[in-house]
Amino acid sequence: AKQAGRDGWARYDAALGEALRVRAALEHDLRRALAEDRITPFFQPIYDLPGRRLRGFEVLSRWNDPERGYVPPDLFIPLAEELGLIERLSEQVLDRACAALTGWPTDLPISFNLSPRQFADASLPRRVLGILDRHGLPGSRLEIEITERAVLADLEVARRIIAQLAAVGVRISLDDFGTGTSSLAILTQLPIDRIKIDRSFIAEVDLLPERGKIVSGVLALARSLGLDVTAEGIERDEELAFLAERRCALGQGFLLGRPQPAEGVAAMLEAEAGR
Ligand code: C2E
Ligand code: CA
Ligand code: CA
Ligand code: CA
Repeated sequence: AKQAGRDGWARYDAALGEALRVRAALEHDLRRALAEDRITPFFQPIYDLPGRRLRGFEVLSRWNDPERGYVPPDLFIPLAEELGLIERLSEQVLDRACAALTGWPTDLPISFNLSPRQFADASLPRRVLGILDRHGLPGSRLEIEITERAVLADLEVARRIIAQLAAVGVRISLDDFGTGTSSLAILTQLPIDRIKIDRSFIAEVDLLPERGKIVSGVLALARSLGLDVTAEGIERDEELAFLAERRCALGQGFLLGRPQPAEGVAAMLEAEAGR
C-alpha cells in the first residue's frame, strides 16, 4: 500500500510539473506576443433587430500565434489578468481598434471589454481617454463592457471611474447579464446605460418556456428602468424572431455576423456605402 501511495504521489508530481511547464510556456509566448504586438482586435457587428441596420461592433481580442495557432481569449485573458499584463494588452488592442475605426466610413461606436482589475484602477479613465484623444475620437464612439465581478470589487472606485468616462460620453454596458449573483443590485448602485443579455439565455429561447419568460422579463425590466438592451449569441432565425417580437433593440451573434478582422469590416462598410 505504501508503495502504491508513493507511486500515486510520483504520478501527481509529474502531472503537476507538466501543468506548470505548459503554463510557463504559455506565459512566455504571451509575453512575446505582447512585445511583438501580435494580439489584434476583431470586430463583431451589432445590429438593430430584426437585423436591418448596423449599430456598432464589439471588439474581441485575437491571438494567432505563429507556433500555437489560435489561442482562445478565454485562455489568454485570464492569464494576462493573473500576470498583471491585462492593462498593457488592453491598451494595445484598444489603440489598434481605434486606429482601424478612424479609417472607416462610419461614425458607429465600438464596445470594448474591460477586466475586473482594470475597473478597480483609478487611472483607467485617463488611460482610455488618452487613447481616444490620440486618435481624435470623441467619447461617444466608445462603450465599455464590464461584468458585475468587476464592479463589485470596489463600488466607490467603480462609481468614480464611470462618472469620469460618462462625462465625455463613454457609455457603460453590463456584460453577461443574468449570469452573476447580483446583476439586479448593480443596476441600483451604478449608472449603467445598457445590459447585454448573456448567450446562455438566448440559446433556444424560442423553445424553452422558462428561458423565454426570463428574457421577456429582463426586457420588461430594462424598459421600465430606461436601460438599453443587447442580446448576445443569436444563432438561429427563431431566436432572432423571438427577440424582435419582444422589441429587444439590439442583437449580435453568429447568425448576424461573426467577429472579423479590421480589413473585413472596412470592406463590409465600403460595400454598404456603395449600395
Ligand atoms: P464576451 O465579452 O461575452 O464576448 C462574446 C463571446 O461570444 C465572444 O467569444 C464571441 O466570439 C462569442 N460569440 C458571439 N456570438 C456568438 C454566437 O452566436 N454563438 C457563440 N457560440 N458565441 C458567440 P470570444 O471572442 O472567444 O471571447 C470570449 C470572452 O473573452 C469574451 O466574452 C470576453 O469575456 C473575453 N474577452 C475577449 N476579448 C477581450 C478583451 O480584449 N479584454 C477582456 N477583458 N476580455 C476579452
Ligand atoms: Ca463582452
Ligand atoms: Ca458577454
Ligand atoms: Ca461571456
